[in-house]
Amino acid sequence: MTRTAAVIGAGFGGIALAIRLQSAGIATTLFEKRDKPGGRAYVYEDQGFTFDGGPTVITDPSAIEELFALTGRKLADYVTLLPVSPFYALSWENGFTFNYVNDQAELDRQIALKSPEDVAGYRKFLAYSEAVFAEGYLKLGTVPFLQFRDMIKVAPQLMRLESWRSVYAIVARFIKDEELRQAFSFHSLLVGGNPFATSAIYALIHALERRWGVWFPKGGTGALVNGMIRLFQDLGGAVRLNAPIDRILTEGGRATGVVLAGGETLAFDRVASNADVVHTYDRMLRDTPRGPAKAAKIKRQRHSMSLFVIYFGLKRHRPEVAHHTVLFGPRYKGLIDAIFNKETLADDFSLYLHNPCVTDPSLAPPGGGSFYVLAPVPHLGTAPDVDWQVEGPKYRDRIFAYLEERCLPGLRDDLVTSRIFTPLDFRDELNAHVGSAFSVEPILTQSAWFRPHNRDDVIPNLYIVGAGTHPGAGVPGVIGSAKATAGLMLADAGLAPA
Ligand SMILES: Cc1cc2nc3c(=O)[nH]c(=O)nc-3n(C[C@H](O)[C@H](O)[C@H](O)COP(=O)(O)OP(=O)(O)OC[C@H]3O[C@@H](n4cnc5c(N)ncnc54)[C@H](O)[C@@H]3O)c2cc1C
Repeated sequence: MTRTAAVIGAGFGGIALAIRLQSAGIATTLFEKRDKPGGRAYVYEDQGFTFDGGPTVITDPSAIEELFALTGRKLADYVTLLPVSPFYALSWENGFTFNYVNDQAELDRQIALKSPEDVAGYRKFLAYSEAVFAEGYLKLGTVPFLQFRDMIKVAPQLMRLESWRSVYAIVARFIKDEELRQAFSFHSLLVGGNPFATSAIYALIHALERRWGVWFPKGGTGALVNGMIRLFQDLGGAVRLNAPIDRILTEGGRATGVVLAGGETLAFDRVASNADVVHTYDRMLRDTPRGPAKAAKIKRQRHSMSLFVIYFGLKRHRPEVAHHTVLFGPRYKGLIDAIFNKETLADDFSLYLHNPCVTDPSLAPPGGGSFYVLAPVPHLGTAPDVDWQVEGPKYRDRIFAYLEERCLPGLRDDLVTSRIFTPLDFRDELNAHVGSAFSVEPILTQSAWFRPHNRDDVIPNLYIVGAGTHPGAGVPGVIGSAKATAGLMLADAGLAPA
């Protein structure tokens, strides 16, 4: 008897899960609403420029290599990963810059120049980061938390690592200089976490980057998405694009299949959703008692901030700007508080600038540069009155003017093309609840067992994969969630884990 599964949504989590299921012998169909796979890693192409829509800092290549290896193939036969250095170039308005590199002597040199006493403090922070990395990522990042007792079991480690403290509080304990504190605490923003509220466990990102480096796929993150899709298809998996799922069918308390928006109905033994968790329960399970009840619960949880993104192509390449550049604005704590908690759009911003042509010039026409810049902004629930139709173009103009001053002089003279992606697009294109960019916010009381579970508690053959479940957002996170969810699905199907 052939076992079958539907995976709804072709984000990194959905694709990774589909590979694991197909590889283990479950005939898997991957359904994606949009015309291309990738989800947040969608690719826009315009006038010879290639713009990766979302993830650009690729960490933990071992998790990606594992996906190919379990199918008896090699990542290198599908995608080439290029090392990126510095990991990030950080820059402040007062002129201070910090090259965040993977070289201890160079880090020490830069820290000593700014704040000599912080050299020893940084070493202590690194040791802390490595300890949480070992516990939080290596041990717990790919195992599901289905029972409260799973949480109790890890409580002693969480206590020992002082996980109730925030990332910033832990960094500040070891490092005294304010800019260096920012340099070593901003990372949780990359997975939707407020450094002043997110558990110190997320300080593990620093150790993860130091251990495995920062990478960029040749051809862009989209090339990695396409490589994974090709792997899935080589294994015999089916991909359906332009295939929004309207409903998950249930009968006798079990999931029995899916209904596409056009009405096509297909039966499956088990169903996994990589779509937004609120959308999954609220919309796709609207006909069940479980759906609206669970959706209401998740809606009451805090959701990560949204992002405002501008993709733009310039006729001149700017090799002097690092591949990953962070431009800190005039405020750190105040701005982050405004992004996570205030109803209005702040006047200032901090920006992440992506300049991939430094690593791979093929992403722009000869001599040109393809960029994106993003600003974290409140989501639509926090700031419901911001009219992005009106504010979006104005915000873009302000950001362009700021970039011209800080690092891209002549930007608007060189501009060939640009497009914006606002919280409304997160909501409407990606079905993201309140336009959140990273789903359920990663605070301690919404982590592990407290997150929506990898397998539904009531519908026994319905599963969740991606940013909204354990362990959470970020490419390594959602690939880890696929491992956790696949483990459950294969065990439930009577198969050994792939
Ligand atoms: C701008 C940006 C930059 C980022 N940068 C980084 C980074 O540098 N490094 C990093 O590690 N992480 C980064 N992240 C986070 C990371 O991209 C995400 O956490 C991760 O990609 C989410 O993957 P996912 O598996 O949850 O699925 P998603 O990418 O959320 O995909 C879900 C898919 O489900 C589809 N879908 C929704 N509803 C339906 C439906 N009804 N039927 C069918 N399909 C449906 C959607 O169209 C989408 O394709 C970034 C995120 C953003 C937005």
